[in-house]
Amino acid sequence: MIRQLNKDIAPIDEVFFSYQGEGIYAGIPQIFVRFSGCNLRCNYCDTPNSLNINSKTKNFTTQALCEYIIDIYNKNKNNFYGRKPSISFTGGEPLIYADFLLNLIKSYLKNKFLIYIETNGSLSQQIKKIYKYCDVISMDIKFQSSCKKDLFKEHKNFLEICKNKVFVKTVITKDTNEKEFHKAINLISKISKNIHLVIQPSSFDNIINQKVLNFYSIATLKIKNVRILPQLHKLWKIK
Ligand code: SF4
Repeated sequence: MIRQLNKDIAPIDEVFFSYQGEGIYAGIPQIFVRFSGCNLRCNYCDTPNSLNINSKTKNFTTQALCEYIIDIYNKNKNNFYGRKPSISFTGGEPLIYADFLLNLIKSYLKNKFLIYIETNGSLSQQIKKIYKYCDVISMDIKFQSSCKKDLFKEHKNFLEICKNKVFVKTVITKDTNEKEFHKAINLISKISKNIHLVIQPSSFDNIINQKVLNFYSIATLKIKNVRILPQLHKLWKIK
């Protein structure tokens, strides 16, 4: 596991403006801050460059990162049409750097930007540190068939902390099995039937399509808001 060594410095893979491509806020303009480093290794990971710190990674202080974010915002201000801009902290796994995020948000960003966190939902002690400053938490439930770890206990702790700000995403691959999907639905519905669930196919494939339709029918019996949604940025061919 990558550990954060310095609360005021974090490794950043990239910072850019684009439109959200996943989940229930798909289509909204955002500034993306992608951290380097992840504590998991999912077999469908589509951001392999952010998994490890590499020669392209840049270390930022909170102040330098804030200045960079403001610069990107100023260059894209017109795309927000006067609305409060949203920043998506993504990765890799951004919560590895929760102490850095806390400093960054408290010192520079709170009240100016909406704070959106995209996380693998496996670091419940870390989300506690910044929860009160978050507006939206996009949490994955990771299946053992994809990441080779049983994370359900940790996911339960995470969901209990975040239930009022979270929506959950599950990525369905050829390997995802019905038993683990049922387990995820039971976990979510016991905490709150109002938590939104997104079922995201990992690719366009007949076997996965069938699975996704079957899983929708299972989920919708216990959770009020369920939708099937592929990654839009890939269809749209944007970052
Ligand atoms: S948690 Fe996300 S970034 Fe980490 S390996 Fe899985 S898909 Fe990739």
